[in-house]
Amino acid sequence: MRDQASGPRVLLKRLRELMQEPLEPQERLDRIVRDIASNMVAEVCSLYVLRADSVLELYATEGLNPNAVHLAQLRLGQGLVGTIAASARPLNLSNAQEHPAFAYLPETGEEIYNSFLGVPVLRAGRTLGVLVVQNKTMRHYRDDEVEALETTAMVIAEMIATGDLARLTRPGLELDLRRPVSFTGLSFNEGVGLGHVVLHEPRIVVTNLFNEDSEEEVRRLEISLSSLRLSIDDMLERRDVAFEGEHRQVLEAYRMFANDRGWVRRLEEAIRNGLTAEAAVEKVQSDMRARMLHMTDPYLRERMSDFDDLANRLLRQLMGRGPEDVAASLPKDAIIVARSMGAAELLDYPRDKMRGLVLEDGAATSHVVIVARAMGIPVAGQMKGAVSMAENGDAIIVDGEEGVIHLRPQPDLEAAYAEKVRFRARRQEVYRELRKKPSTTRDGVQVDLLMNAGLAVDLPQLAEAGAAGIGLFRTELQFMVASTFPRAEAQEKLYRDVLEAARGKPVTFRTIDIGGDKVLPYFKGAIQEENPALGWRAIRLTLDRPGLLRTQIRALLKASGGRELKLMLPMVTELGEIAQAREIIDREVRHLSRFAHHLPTSLKLGAMLEVPSLLFQLDELMKAVDFVSVGSNDLFQFVMAVDRGNTQLANRFDTLSAPFLRVLKQIADAGVRNHTPVTLCGELAGKPISAMALIGLGFRSISMSPASIGPVKAMLTELPLDELKAFFDDNLMAPAQGLPMRALLQAFADDRSIPL
Ligand code: PEP
Ligand code: MG
Repeated sequence: MRDQASGPRVLLKRLRELMQEPLEPQERLDRIVRDIASNMVAEVCSLYVLRADSVLELYATEGLNPNAVHLAQLRLGQGLVGTIAASARPLNLSNAQEHPAFAYLPETGEEIYNSFLGVPVLRAGRTLGVLVVQNKTMRHYRDDEVEALETTAMVIAEMIATGDLARLTRPGLELDLRRPVSFTGLSFNEGVGLGHVVLHEPRIVVTNLFNEDSEEEVRRLEISLSSLRLSIDDMLERRDVAFEGEHRQVLEAYRMFANDRGWVRRLEEAIRNGLTAEAAVEKVQSDMRARMLHMTDPYLRERMSDFDDLANRLLRQLMGRGPEDVAASLPKDAIIVARSMGAAELLDYPRDKMRGLVLEDGAATSHVVIVARAMGIPVAGQMKGAVSMAENGDAIIVDGEEGVIHLRPQPDLEAAYAEKVRFRARRQEVYRELRKKPSTTRDGVQVDLLMNAGLAVDLPQLAEAGAAGIGLFRTELQFMVASTFPRAEAQEKLYRDVLEAARGKPVTFRTIDIGGDKVLPYFKGAIQEENPALGWRAIRLTLDRPGLLRTQIRALLKASGGRELKLMLPMVTELGEIAQAREIIDREVRHLSRFAHHLPTSLKLGAMLEVPSLLFQLDELMKAVDFVSVGSNDLFQFVMAVDRGNTQLANRFDTLSAPFLRVLKQIADAGVRNHTPVTLCGELAGKPISAMALIGLGFRSISMSPASIGPVKAMLTELPLDELKAFFDDNLMAPAQGLPMRALLQAFADDRSIPL
């Protein structure tokens, strides 16, 4: 053991004793600063704690005027103490008063001290306060003294975090740790959730801070580090397809960090100063986080998250813990907060206890988001920093409409949101009642309201939402949430489960629609494309990879034995594609009948209308298929030349503009003319105002997300269809006063009290 470490070791031992004594918090603090001062041969030791109003308040001092305690204060960024708190970096000065940031606080009587060493009190990278020592002489504190003071600061951080100091705050003031914070990111699924934080990867609370024997602790660290390195090597070597691509890069980064000499040296140093191996990991991680917080480079920030993960793994190793069984102790209003998460991990949480999901990363198309949407959970994403600011059990609101979250919200905000949630619940009650009513307009015209689905978790919604069937089953979702191609048996099982859950209601399966924004990381054949939306996707891809299509069709045929099978093809561009697909289907039917398989009672083949080329051959299209389903998301994207995923353009063009509505009318008319059933299954069907327009244009079947069925039905049952038809006769080709169609439709509904 190095000599210089004995100072901090003795100090930490003292602190441990002080923590265990039954003292009032103020007295404990007073004794801590006194002991630090004497141990470091300093005349002054002071602790400043950061309050929620961004003010650093003097909480304890040895050496400065004791009357200044709880009175002396500095704003974040003000003076040396404020600078340390704002930058989260130590300041080591032999002549403090010469520093440009020096601010003189007359009440403290500190003018006689020259040298100054201040370190931030950090926890999970957040500044909770500042710990300072001062001397009259112009001394320069050694590196090991800085390190020792930082180690002590960590112990104080734990005291603050455990709430010990909260009792010392004056009424009306709060510690920064408990400060309410809001984050703005993106909405990944609508809905509002109120509840309590459940960290998906709970921060491991290190309770055992002080070591008995440094050498023994260093040995423990080494053992854990080498098994961590081995497990990473192991994962990398397995060459599991799931670890290709991005996963692999992350693991490579882990391996690099785990072998980083600088990191290991800092860990060992913290242990030699008296910390346990776990506490050392936490301290070094916290220091590093604080430093990285000021970096703007997204690549480095991403690496920081990887480092966090690695530190967490190391903590688990050291404490001999496997992954936490979070589900066991879940509050009944859990809001899961995660950096990122796999789809399967979300399914491990019981649905009835989940009120929302917050992700630091993620995209609207990530698998976990797809699953969360299917489960009807509000999701907000891209909430950078949420994980480190949140503590398990904190109150939190997820606003999936606005893409914001509120952590530890003020009571008035919480009350406003609670009212919003109650209002939504009352509306849900009304929708539930509506389920029993026939799905007809006010003047008695039947309109089928179907739902979109794609996973087994969607199925209970069929009955809950009161859908007439499944108008679009996105089979690619099973492929997207898997880590390898789902086997034929797994596909068949899902399709069978769907048909069983539908209990005779119609189900339209769509053949896999991958490519574009739907990527399968394990699909080796995928190519880099300049314009993926216009590229090798959907039916184009599956016709080129007929093995994929054949397997799926066989699974669908087998699963629908004795029942009707409705099958549709995505992104059809020319009729030849339908003929080609039909050939493959026919061959599979022949194959199965040769082996005496139970075949579907009937097979209906449809095409999705998503590509504008079909608009110019509508009659031929209607004759070539048994039904047509308009994919309005893609059709709008191609008709208007606007990327559906580009948020910059999201509100620029209106889906209810006259030209697009005229396109939709032509499709509906062609269906009637050719006696070919036409439905629409894009997002357009799910908004009451656009659903109203569709019905007015002639659609008698629309398919939407299950949550939309209630609001759309509420509109439908109040809709006088005759009047709406007359409205379109007057306005579709020549909108009144040149007004936008959306405004005219809104006015139509308002005049007749149709709920939109
Ligand atoms: C569409 O394009 O409207 C559609 C329903 O398909 P997806 O959203 O799956 O592309
Ligand atoms: Mg589409």
